[in-house]
Amino acid sequence: MRLQNKIALVTGAARGIGEAIARTFVLEGAVVYLTDINDKLGLDVTNAIGDFAFYKRLDVRKEADWIDVISIIKSSHGKLDILVNNAGITGFEEGFVPHDPENVTLENWHEVHRTNLDGVFLGCKHAIGVMKSNGGGSIVNISSRSGIVGIPMAAAYASSKAAVRNHTKSVALYCAANNYNIRCNSIHPAAILTPMWEQMIGDGPDREAKMKEFVKETPLGRFGTTGEVAKMALYLASDESAYVTGSEFHIDGGILAGSAVTPK
Ligand code: NDP
Repeated sequence: MRLQNKIALVTGAARGIGEAIARTFVLEGAVVYLTDINDKLGLDVTNAIGDFAFYKRLDVRKEADWIDVISIIKSSHGKLDILVNNAGITGFEEGFVPHDPENVTLENWHEVHRTNLDGVFLGCKHAIGVMKSNGGGSIVNISSRSGIVGIPMAAAYASSKAAVRNHTKSVALYCAANNYNIRCNSIHPAAILTPMWEQMIGDGPDREAKMKEFVKETPLGRFGTTGEVAKMALYLASDESAYVTGSEFHIDGGILAGSAVTPK
């Protein structure tokens, strides 16, 4: 029960990494508000998790939604201890469109930043407001390996995730300087098997071959699981990480460690 008596909000929690984080937090004793724009799935998952889970619609791009959900949490529980800014898009949800630096349209560039960056900015802004009045809290921002290296065919995604990495540090330093007792850290996953990947992998006879191809550069040679990311979020959300702020945590099967190729 590493999160006993904690109140948590997780965005993009209807599926994938957000769902796994919400499940893990409830198992560890927290009351969790799952939020998403996919209300049907969000409600089904919340009902399956049980009594300590609640569902609210929260489109991370909309400041009014943040104000609404945080005020509901405040009036029901008097506090918010944990925020996980997890909701994110790649820009390829409706199929392939160019996202390289030369051909991505301004509209598509903004669309990705609106969810991935504006969403995190708004979450941090409104969480700071409530957390400082309840004596502190922990904000966990889900960035990506793509926030650390360049991704030529997904430039908007990479840019937005790099901005999340940096904003995490600004939030951490701001809160520390003001003695708010609010910590803020980022997680940088890569190749975690979620519905985000399913459309690329498909369920045809070549599924296994495609999966192998996607992780052939990953030193550990496999996809990561949502549960593995949830365990990292659990550490950062809990008081076990009380001395950790402004830090970044890679969970990528070793990709960012470098190349295993030996120089000739
Ligand atoms: P999924 O696409 O599986 O789940 C994301 C969820 O967020 C969906 O339920 C989606 O709803 C929801 N969502 C999308 N836009 C919004 C919005 N504006 N407001 C609220 N919710 C929204 O993603 P993953 O679980 O794979 O990824 C979660 C996070 O982890 C993302 O930030 C992603 O960038 C990051 N990440 C994932 C990696 C991976 O390999 N899976 C690697 C690196 C980082 P809907 O289905 O209706 O769109």
